[in-house]
Amino acid sequence: MTTIPNSTTVLIVGAGPSGLVAALSLLHHDFKDFVVVDAVEQGQNTSRALVVHAATLEALDTINSGEEIVAKGTKARSINIGNRTSQLVSTNLSSLDKHTRHPYALVIPQNLTEYILGEKIKGYGVTVHRPCKVTSLRRNEKDDNLTDVTFEDGKIITAKYVIGADGARSVVRRMAGIGFSDPKTGEQGDRTTNLTQMVLADVFGFIGTMSPESFFLSIPMPNSFNELLAKNGQEVNGQIYRIGSGVPVVDGEIPHSPGKDYLQNLIDRFGPTILSSDASVNPGLHASPHQGSYMAFTRLGGDKLEGATVAPDDTASKHGGIILLVGDAAHIHSPAGGQGMNLGIRDAVFLGEALMKHINASASQPSNIDTDYILREFAEERHKRALEVIAYTKTLLSVMGTQDKKISWVFPISATTVRDWVMWLGGKFGFMQAKMAWAMSGLGRR
Ligand SMILES: Cc1cc2nc3c(=O)[nH]c(=O)nc-3n(C[C@H](O)[C@H](O)[C@H](O)COP(=O)(O)OP(=O)(O)OC[C@H]3O[C@@H](n4cnc5c(N)ncnc54)[C@H](O)[C@@H]3O)c2cc1C
Repeated sequence: MTTIPNSTTVLIVGAGPSGLVAALSLLHHDFKDFVVVDAVEQGQNTSRALVVHAATLEALDTINSGEEIVAKGTKARSINIGNRTSQLVSTNLSSLDKHTRHPYALVIPQNLTEYILGEKIKGYGVTVHRPCKVTSLRRNEKDDNLTDVTFEDGKIITAKYVIGADGARSVVRRMAGIGFSDPKTGEQGDRTTNLTQMVLADVFGFIGTMSPESFFLSIPMPNSFNELLAKNGQEVNGQIYRIGSGVPVVDGEIPHSPGKDYLQNLIDRFGPTILSSDASVNPGLHASPHQGSYMAFTRLGGDKLEGATVAPDDTASKHGGIILLVGDAAHIHSPAGGQGMNLGIRDAVFLGEALMKHINASASQPSNIDTDYILREFAEERHKRALEVIAYTKTLLSVMGTQDKKISWVFPISATTVRDWVMWLGGKFGFMQAKMAWAMSGLGRR
């Protein structure tokens, strides 16, 4: 563990994308009196976010931190959605041209994004203190406006502001007693619900589309990422595809380390038929999916609410100093639509500005003047954005997860057929494609 000071103005807990960007945002505002800590020795190398959307790149540009990420990523200019046997919609992202200088979805693995952000703060001379696991927070005994933050080894740091960027199971959130609930059901906590489980893996040799009754996505990765995504020095000659598949709750828990057979079973049930190993649906001579090799894996499911966020009033709570939450610590939802990291990065970009305003206003105003409204407004705004993203991902999930049942005895057509017709027809109209591109880009909910 590196040596951390006894006190700081701002403590950032967590050096995932949200914590790193919070640090960059403060640096952009010429503020350096902060400390960043993370529980683990090095960043994660699992299959997680893969796309940075236009709204996020625009936000990063405002703190001069987007350029390096754009330079390392690959610009995807269309998104194709289909059922198991055919393509239904192809959305051209060029409709975003008039709204942004980033009219594309930037494909870049999360670990590379984190690496670039980490190098950038290093360039400012800032160190992430690792491994420093926060275990508790309490009010400072001498000054009610400060928080004492304790680490696993007993070390304590005193801070005026604590930024909880410590992910979905945030200790900062829990210790500060901040509620975390599904905005629709009011259900509290980060525990099991009936969320469709999702398994993600990096494999090579596959192509794929969305499927009925569940969902199945695949994104071809640029070959330039092969080395980065390969595990344990494994050599990769083919192309790696990121696949994501919904796993019905009735299937039970996703195994901790699902092997090739488990993944193949998902492909056979939900993936494009051209990849199926089942001869009854794939009689042709297609590339054998068994060439695919399991590379890296993250599981999500059975342990998260479908969508949860903190109430805005909670974020600037008085547990000694001021506690603010960003990223997954403040909101979680399904990865459908690839929005989680994006939303967290935007929270963190805008937090820097709000925090600086608060720090400057508190220094220049008498102590009886309320300056906390600055942070309350920030929290309200970000809460609204989180609700919008949760609603968006829930809509996507319900469309992708349409059940294969007849809609009625009178019209013996299955609901998935109706969905596919509507999508196919909608996809013929430019304005519908533009609407889909806009929703995915996040530009309407920065
Ligand atoms: C399977 C999967 C697929 C996903 N796909 C996408 C996608 O396509 N697009 C997208 O935008 N998002 C996606 N996400 C979501 C995205 O990965 C998260 O939203 C993003 O990682 C959140 O970043 P964060 O910095 O808020 O939290 P995290 O990335 O969780 O980082 C939190 C950091 O805090 C540290 N920490 C935790 N506890 C402590 C502690 N007590 N003390 C000190 N440090 C601590 C951790 O070590 C970690 O480094 C996906 C997530 C999963 C799981």
